[in-house]
Amino acid sequence: PLDPKDDVPLDKWVVFVPDADAAAVRDALFAAARHQPPRVAVAPDDTPILRVEGAVRAYRLPRPRAALDGADPTGEHGPMRVLLTGAAGFIGSHITERLLDQGHEVLVVDNYYSSTRRNLTHLLDHPNIEVMRHDVTFPLYVEVDEIYHLACPASPIFYQRDPVQTTKTSVIGAINMLGLAKRTKAKNLLSSTSEVYGDPQVHPQPETYWGHVNPVGPRGVYDEAKRYAEALVLAYRDNRGVDASIVRIFNTFGP
Ligand code: UDP
Repeated sequence: PLDPKDDVPLDKWVVFVPDADAAAVRDALFAAARHQPPRVAVAPDDTPILRVEGAVRAYRLPRPRAALDGADPTGEHGPMRVLLTGAAGFIGSHITERLLDQGHEVLVVDNYYSSTRRNLTHLLDHPNIEVMRHDVTFPLYVEVDEIYHLACPASPIFYQRDPVQTTKTSVIGAINMLGLAKRTKAKNLLSSTSEVYGDPQVHPQPETYWGHVNPVGPRGVYDEAKRYAEALVLAYRDNRGVDASIVRIFNTFGP
C-alpha cells in the first residue's frame, strides 16, 4: 500500500480506500470522472476514508457504492462534473473560474453569439476545463452532475439583433438543458432575468410579483422567452422530477 504522505504527481490520481471497496471505487471513479484509471491503494488504516490525491481533498464514504453510482448532484462525495452554458459571457466566465478553483471539472459551452472567447483565455490551460463551441438550441448529450444554464443573449443590442434566434435560444435551449438534466439526474439552474417583471408597477419587486410585460413590445422576444423558460423549469420540476431552479439576475457589473 502507498503511504498517503507519498509525494504524488498532480496528474496522477491515487485513491486510498478501505480494502473491501478498492475494486468498486476504481471502476466507479473511472466511469464517473473519465480520467485515466486512478491507482487505487488500500488506506493506511481501516477508517472509511476515500482520499484522492490530485484533487487535494479527502472524503468520508458513508455509502461507498451508492455515492459513486451515477450522478452526484450534491457534490458531497467529491468534485463534480459541471456543465456551464454561456460560459464565455461576463457572469459565466466568473462562475467558471470559481468552479475550477473549487476543484470541479467544468465543461464550458458557448457559441460566442454575444461573447468572446477572450473571457476564458486565462482558464484554457487549466487541467479541469473542457471547452465546446455549441449552440444550445441543438440537443447536447454529455454526462454531468450539475448544469448552470446561462446561454442567451442578454443585452438589448444582442437580443434584438436576431429576435427569432433569441426566442429559440431561451426556449429550446431551456428544453434541451432540462432534458439533459432529466436524463442525467443533474441539478439544473436556469439564469433568468429581472426582465420577467417587464415595466414593473411595484418597487422593489418581490418574487411573488408576476410582472407587467408587453408580449408585442420591443423587448417581448427576450422577456416572454425568459418567462416561458421559467415556466418550463417548473414543468420539468413538477412533472418530470428534475431538480431545477431559477435565478433572476438583475443588472450586473464587475471586472
Ligand atoms: N436532450 C438533450 N440532451 C440529453 C437529453 C435530452 O439535449 O441528454 C434534449 C432532447 O433532445 C429533447 C429535450 O432535451 O429535445 C427534452 O428532453 P426529453 O425529450 O427527454 O424531455 P421530455 O419533454 O420528453 O420530458
